[in-house]
Amino acid sequence: KPAVNGDLTNGHLNGHLTNGISSGSTERIQIIDDEKEFTPDLSTQIGRWGLRDAGFDYNVVAVFGSQSTGKSTLLNRLFGTTFDVMDETRRQQTTKGIWMCRGKDMNVMVMDVEGTDGRERGEDQDFERKSALFSLASSEILIVNLWEHQVGLYQGANMGLLKTVFEVNLGLFGQSGTSNRTLLLFVIRDHIGQTPLANLQATLTADLMRIWDSLAKPTELRDRQLSDYFDLAFTALPHKILAADRFEAEVVNLRKRFVNKGEEGYLFKPAYHKRIPADGVAFYMEGIWEQVQTNKDLDLPTQQELLAQFRCDEISAVALTEFNEQAKSQKRPVEAGRVVEGLGAMMRNWRTDALNRYDRDASRYHKGVYARKRADLLASLDSTLSPLFLGQLKNLHKTCLVTFKDEILDGLRGDSYDFGEVVHKAQGKCVRTFSDGAQEALVEGTEWVWEDELESLKEEVRAVADQCRKDETKKMINLIEKNFKKQISEPVELSLNKAKPDMWDGVLKVFRESLEKSEATYLAKAKSFNCTEEENVSSLATLRRRAWQALRAKIDEQTADPVIIGKLRTHFEERFRYDDEGVPRVWKPEDDIDTAFKKAKDETLDLVPLFSKISPVDSALEYSLPSDTVDPLSNEEFDFPATLVVFTETKAIELTNKFRRDADAYYVEAKRSTVASIAQ
Ligand code: GDP
Ligand code: MG
Repeated sequence: KPAVNGDLTNGHLNGHLTNGISSGSTERIQIIDDEKEFTPDLSTQIGRWGLRDAGFDYNVVAVFGSQSTGKSTLLNRLFGTTFDVMDETRRQQTTKGIWMCRGKDMNVMVMDVEGTDGRERGEDQDFERKSALFSLASSEILIVNLWEHQVGLYQGANMGLLKTVFEVNLGLFGQSGTSNRTLLLFVIRDHIGQTPLANLQATLTADLMRIWDSLAKPTELRDRQLSDYFDLAFTALPHKILAADRFEAEVVNLRKRFVNKGEEGYLFKPAYHKRIPADGVAFYMEGIWEQVQTNKDLDLPTQQELLAQFRCDEISAVALTEFNEQAKSQKRPVEAGRVVEGLGAMMRNWRTDALNRYDRDASRYHKGVYARKRADLLASLDSTLSPLFLGQLKNLHKTCLVTFKDEILDGLRGDSYDFGEVVHKAQGKCVRTFSDGAQEALVEGTEWVWEDELESLKEEVRAVADQCRKDETKKMINLIEKNFKKQISEPVELSLNKAKPDMWDGVLKVFRESLEKSEATYLAKAKSFNCTEEENVSSLATLRRRAWQALRAKIDEQTADPVIIGKLRTHFEERFRYDDEGVPRVWKPEDDIDTAFKKAKDETLDLVPLFSKISPVDSALEYSLPSDTVDPLSNEEFDFPATLVVFTETKAIELTNKFRRDADAYYVEAKRSTVASIAQ
């Protein structure tokens, strides 16, 4: 190895200077330490580098080569990293394990891998193989760093390393063929220039082919070429000390090929990308290392799926946490029975936001896992929203019903309302308010329904309306009944005062006419009430019953004991004490008092059976009501034929006897008056 002295412009110093200025962005981290342990801090470090949200917009590069061949120096120059460089004065290996650093102002994760001279030292070939596996599974470009004088040393450490790399690659990507390409970039150091690069390149390529051919390949991969898996690129750098200016210039040129996207010779081709989203790199690499460490077969598809599961769960959890926070804000008001204005819009926003958050980060992972976890997330979201939706419906239902009742009460205030219209309007408004509210609360993509709740609301509204209508009908029937009583009062009295055989005809005529009018009044009103046919039938029956009972009450009043006795007395007096011209009689002795008395008495007694039963002469006037119906408003049994009887047999006899006594008194008085006139 050439002795290099007094190198003061190494990346180590530069790195420390930069570090002080831009916090975190060029910090390095030992991802695998001397004990071969993977760091728990990579994920945090990727965050500190500002790469967590880079998605696929980042690259990974690793370096390979013997110890102290200027690898760290090169990386620091190319990427502005801060890897340790060997201190000339102490001459010891500086890079232990694997270090990683973010490229300065580049979305590149650079891995500095421990020098691989184990083969020469006869130690730790194990780590060599493991770090090769690890680097291949995660890097797009492997920089193979070697001195010019190492080229052609087929037995040298580098070639041993490359053999390892090829073997490992076949294991990893053998089956997937060309879908996973990696670039091997050979950087020939201390190129003096005597041998042109093309020659060095040819020598190296030939060596590589030889190694490839000598690999023990599985039979199914026997025909695979090196070029099926690797792209090769070669470059040379002048001597860092002897040709310092040219060295620096060439490094700058090489750096451009890592930086300038889309330019000729750009090295990070998309085909090399391992398609691990930046926020999953730490988990992925740790998983890979664990597999490598335990000497398990490295199954990349499984690793990617595991990674996807882990990350999709994490991303989902983050989205869910934020979502739950939002949803919680409306939980209380809904539970307290409030109808939350714009709840649907809120829920839709929370849900879309959560899904968008999930999609943004998770969609980069394994499609199947992403979709499965998305369905899980969606189910979680909806199971949180569903109680809010149902609560909102319940609260809507309650408030709509209350409003409906209030509106009916309001509408029925005063006298000039149309009951049917009031109910119809309130009903329509209630259904509309509920439907609008329910539709607002609906979230697209769910299977939520509100129609059932509407039906139950409608039913309750109908029940309230029915009750109101019943009350109103009751009120109306009472009013009609009152008017009816007024109408029949005088005519019935008149008829019953003129006790004639067709007395009941008059009474029933009045009854029928008034009832007809009442029924017409009822029907006119009932139309606007939206009463059912059934209700009309029942109301009319009630009305007729009430009317009949009102008539009976009037008749009872007119046939109460003192009244009927009075009527009989008057009737008798009119016939016995007055002559046919209505002139008061003065009895003379020759008058036939007995005959006159008997006639008047018999005629009067005829009235008792007339009054005792409602019975018109004209049978067409006979009225009848069904007896079986029970008045729904009074719940009393009703026996129509019994109501035709004004007084019973016993009562009739009692009245007759009472009247006879009265009549006898008149007779005696008449007799006395003749005696008195004789005596004068
Ligand atoms: P590493 O072990 O491969 O990472 O090598 P380092 O980067 O730590 O460098 C080891 C020594 O080689 C240091 O003293 C560097 O100054 C020196 N060095 C770095 N690059 C070159 C180079 O291109 N040519 C020569 N001759 N020396 C170099
Ligand atoms: Mg080093």
